[in-house]
Amino acid sequence: MSDSKINSIPVLCGMPVEELAERLSPLPRFRAAQISKWIASGVSSFDEMDNLPLPLRTELAGRFTLRPNVTVQKHSSSDGTVKLALRFADGARIEAVLLSDNSGRRTACLSTQAGCPAGCVFCKTGAGFLRNLTAAEIVEQFLQLRTLADDSASSGMSPTTLPISNIVVMGMGEPLLNLAELRRALAVISSKEGLHFSRRRITVSTCGIARGITDLTDQGPAVRLALSLTTADENLRRRLMPITVREPLAAVKKALRHFQDSGGGRITLEAVLLGGINTRDEDAAGMARFARGLDAAVNLIPWNPVKGLEFEGKTLRQPSTAEIESFTQRLKTLGLNVTRRYRRGRGVMGACGQLSGN
Ligand code: SAH
Ligand code: SF4
Repeated sequence: MSDSKINSIPVLCGMPVEELAERLSPLPRFRAAQISKWIASGVSSFDEMDNLPLPLRTELAGRFTLRPNVTVQKHSSSDGTVKLALRFADGARIEAVLLSDNSGRRTACLSTQAGCPAGCVFCKTGAGFLRNLTAAEIVEQFLQLRTLADDSASSGMSPTTLPISNIVVMGMGEPLLNLAELRRALAVISSKEGLHFSRRRITVSTCGIARGITDLTDQGPAVRLALSLTTADENLRRRLMPITVREPLAAVKKALRHFQDSGGGRITLEAVLLGGINTRDEDAAGMARFARGLDAAVNLIPWNPVKGLEFEGKTLRQPSTAEIESFTQRLKTLGLNVTRRYRRGRGVMGACGQLSGN
């Protein structure tokens, strides 16, 4: 499936307005803009588009679908995190998460692939790969999460009652291995005629696909970037994140510098902390070396437990509190700006790396 088609019926919600105008030709462009606005408003049928002539609505309904065919299950956690499990018509299962923090920030976490081909040993998603998601399937996640956010806002039931303020592309899959579809989805999400969400509030997280970072820098969209560094020890990194065998850190760093030289702004270096594995003093020193010459903040994510995952025959374990503290302290002493990721969503297996689609 190379574009927003399922059973060859085009799905319009994943099409940027220019593409929509082309598809709808010879209709005038303003019709594409009207339809984009309707899609952004969340409608699920052409019947609701009351500024389109009735015969046109009927004709469009015969040629296109608006949203992907999906079944959705909702799992709520007591900390305010809500996970949606989405199942598409071909059986592919993915997850999308809405996180609320105490400062009133509401973050939508979106998936880009069903499974992931990168195979990181610490990540549940990496256990298998089914397929790339289409732009429509990525936009659909946002629309579903927005409905949730709006519902909880109007019922006043949630800990925070604000609309979605941030998007992180940190759910299932490696975004830069599905850049074409992600790019179309983000065009819909950020364009004025679409959902009009600020690009500066969108962060794409990558395991470090160098040519993907360069492509994103040169062709846009101008979103924020996070690199899942994990460790700057190249040998250890290759064993933990098998895909990085073909992505040397020097090439990744060069791509990140190009990103920043082109005005991409501060990046985040993420490190999932694996007890007894990547929290050594030399890992801290390596991270500081990697960060040199970059404008970067470090985000530490204590490993969220996933049953059955192991590294070279040893069961993975969470880092101890003392281990987290001393690693954080060491990085700070080395002059790095360090934050710690909150663990919300654990109760619904919605925390980082615990997403698997089943
Ligand atoms: N594929 C992309 C985005 C999805 S993974 C990437 O790797 O960046 C998002 C983040 O979750 C990554 O930083 C990854 O290192 C982290 N992660 C994976 N499994 C985890 C786990 N079990 N506990 C905590 N973080 C995990
Ligand atoms: Fe894929 Fe990211 Fe998980 Fe690695 S951490 S397997 S790149 S989703």
